[in-house]
Amino acid sequence: MLTAWMLLGSLVLSEAKPTARDISKGVDWLTRYGYLPAPDPYSAQQQTLEGLRASVRSMQRFAGIPETGELDDETVQMMQRPRCSLPDIIGTSELMRRRRKRYALVGTVWEKKELTWRLDTFPAASLTRDTTRALIGYALAAWGQETALSFTETQGEADLRVGFVGGSHGDGYPFDGPGGTLGHAFFPGVGPIAGDTHMDADETWTYNKDEGTDLFAVAVHEFGHSLGLSHSSAELSIMRPYYQGTVGNPSKYRLPPDDLEGIQALYGKRVSSPGAALPPPMPTQRVIPPHGPTHL
Ligand SMILES: [Zn+2]
Ligand SMILES: [Zn+2]
Repeated sequence: MLTAWMLLGSLVLSEAKPTARDISKGVDWLTRYGYLPAPDPYSAQQQTLEGLRASVRSMQRFAGIPETGELDDETVQMMQRPRCSLPDIIGTSELMRRRRKRYALVGTVWEKKELTWRLDTFPAASLTRDTTRALIGYALAAWGQETALSFTETQGEADLRVGFVGGSHGDGYPFDGPGGTLGHAFFPGVGPIAGDTHMDADETWTYNKDEGTDLFAVAVHEFGHSLGLSHSSAELSIMRPYYQGTVGNPSKYRLPPDDLEGIQALYGKRVSSPGAALPPPMPTQRVIPPHGPTHL
């Protein structure tokens, strides 16, 4: 009997033969991000070679790399890039609908336009609390300045709760230490966790720097999920699943057209001036000495 990874092994044309563990990791990756159906122990249905090739091709198409249907070097490298831990394909029929490279809606929205948010936990000393709070405010404003949505920080019950958590943290989406998965968020809905965002506490979160992981860029992405957007296959979109690096000054940031189209399909356009949705200016980032005090 052929297992999925044996079949996938026959797709690899690279000179350096991948180990069974590499191939198995590829299948795990494709399954985790929705390109392959989860194993079903009841039907014990095996993947066909064509099915596996098709899943590699749709991953490549989504990522914007050559659609070879093989686990070539570019594909393996893409699979190793830091990214959001939510799947790219939700539901099998979605694969067929993804003809155009564009945004995707998850199917639920907030029924109200005034949303509240709170920060439950903060990142380690690479960012101060004030900077973290301002970055989160600006990341929400990126969506708010283009729609009729408004976001207000609260210390009480909040629609959108944001936390920095590490490893397994009780929601079935464990984080994996530095690199790999960076964050995830829960779609709009009625449960207590709906709209919440978790950032991997083991990343070195930074702001507008070459090193570390840019909190603003990842937060804008995750809030797209909190508001009802899924991953986009568009070339230029903050909702691409892979980490894209810093996106510049948060107070000057504007969403790419694909994301704008997606969010306005859900909540309509803003009628008043976009500036009205912007939070106060960013605090000056304090430089923290490498061996300085760890309190904030
Ligand atoms: Zn995501
Ligand atoms: Zn989580």
